[in-house]
Amino acid sequence: MSVESNRLLLKHHLEKLRLPTIRREWEAAAAACASEGRDYGDYLLRLTERELIEREQRAAQRRIKSAKFPVLKTLENFDFAAQPAINETLVRQLANGEYLDARENVLLIGNSGTGKTHLATALGLSACAQGKRVRFWGATALVTHLLEMREQHELKRFFTQVEKHDLIILDELGYVPFSKAGAELLFDIVSRAYERLSLIVTTNLPFEQWTEVMGSERLTGAMLDRLTHRVHIIEANGESYRLQDARKRRKKPSGG
Ligand code: ADP
Ligand code: MG
Repeated sequence: MSVESNRLLLKHHLEKLRLPTIRREWEAAAAACASEGRDYGDYLLRLTERELIEREQRAAQRRIKSAKFPVLKTLENFDFAAQPAINETLVRQLANGEYLDARENVLLIGNSGTGKTHLATALGLSACAQGKRVRFWGATALVTHLLEMREQHELKRFFTQVEKHDLIILDELGYVPFSKAGAELLFDIVSRAYERLSLIVTTNLPFEQWTEVMGSERLTGAMLDRLTHRVHIIEANGESYRLQDARKRRKKPSGG
């Protein structure tokens, strides 16, 4: 067989084996290995390493996509100096992901604009990079979705999906009070998550005020009980970052 038809066959095999990186790079790697005097083993090692690295990157990208973060925010972009009330050591330790294996929760409590959603997203992204399945939900959107699923008799299926995750982020609990049915469904999520997966909850509400959102005192107690059994609490009680930022920009003379 000609060199050309062999190349075509090779291309076909690599596609069938789903090795897109090797398919793209084998020729350049062969030339590089030849000029460096590497043997066949080194060549194969180099190619398989590249394939593995890219495969992991593609999988992480898929996990990030299916987590449905509203905006991608990272720890690198978080200015801890602007928010001295936040326990940086704890945040960085959480980014290592051990809490996920222990199915512990994280609660971010504080006023608006202090970076709670930013940090929750950044922790979610770290989890994706560590191979975890993550889903970001606005608390209100989740409750609306739960009520819809119940209406369509799809709740059971939805709960099964939820339980396949390693981390669920519940963002902005407390801004809108829930209906009785909504609060009960949210409680259902928290109790299913309990000891099965981790929850990150961001809220502007101190514990004493959760009843105002959940309605029933008994339900609130039971929910907080599960949520806080194994929990890391990050308090963000500084000044709004948006306000600080706006003030800085006003102070700075424009155009220079
Ligand atoms: P919260 O959820 O506490 O209301 P956000 O996380 O939505 O606040 O933060 C508001 C905006 O300010 C976002 O764009 C966020 O990225 C940014 N932000 C907040 N705190 C910081 C910070 N310390 N460093 C960098 N950006 C920040
Ligand atoms: Mg927020």
